[in-house]
Amino acid sequence: MDCLFCKIIAGEIPSTKVYEDDAVLAFRDINPQAPEHIVAVPKTHIESANDITAQNVKCVADVWERIPKIADKLGFGKDGYRVINNCGENGGQTVPHIHFHILGGKKFTDL
Ligand code: AMP
Ligand code: ZN
Repeated sequence: MDCLFCKIIAGEIPSTKVYEDDAVLAFRDINPQAPEHIVAVPKTHIESANDITAQNVKCVADVWERIPKIADKLGFGKDGYRVINNCGENGGQTVPHIHFHILGGKKFTDL
C-alpha cells in the first residue's frame, strides 16, 4: 500500500520508534513542533477520523490506551501533554493514515 505510515510500520522507511506492540506504533515526528513530539498510529490502516466505524474503532481505542503509557515512558506524562488528531484537508492532515500527535515538554497556552 502506498501509505507513508504503513511503510514505517512495515520497516520499509526508517523511524525513531519509541513504542511498539502488536497493534500500535509510536515514533518521533520528523519535524517536531514541541520538545517532545510523538506520532502514534494504529498498525491497521484507517485513513482518517472520518473512516472510524463500529468495526474498526478498537484500533483507535488501542492507540488512545497506549498514549498515557508512552508519555509516562518518555518522562513527560506527569507534567501533562496535548494530543491532536488532524482530519482531512481543512484539519491539516498530510498523511492519510489516522494518527495522534502527542506533544509535550512545554506548557501550551493557546488552543
Ligand atoms: P499530519 O499533518 O497531522 O498529517 O501529520 C503528519 C506528521 O507526520 C507531520 O507532523 C510530519 O512532520 C510527520 N512525518 C512525515 N513524514 C515523517 C517521517 N518519515 N517520520 C516521522 N514523521 C513524519
Ligand atoms: Zn497506512
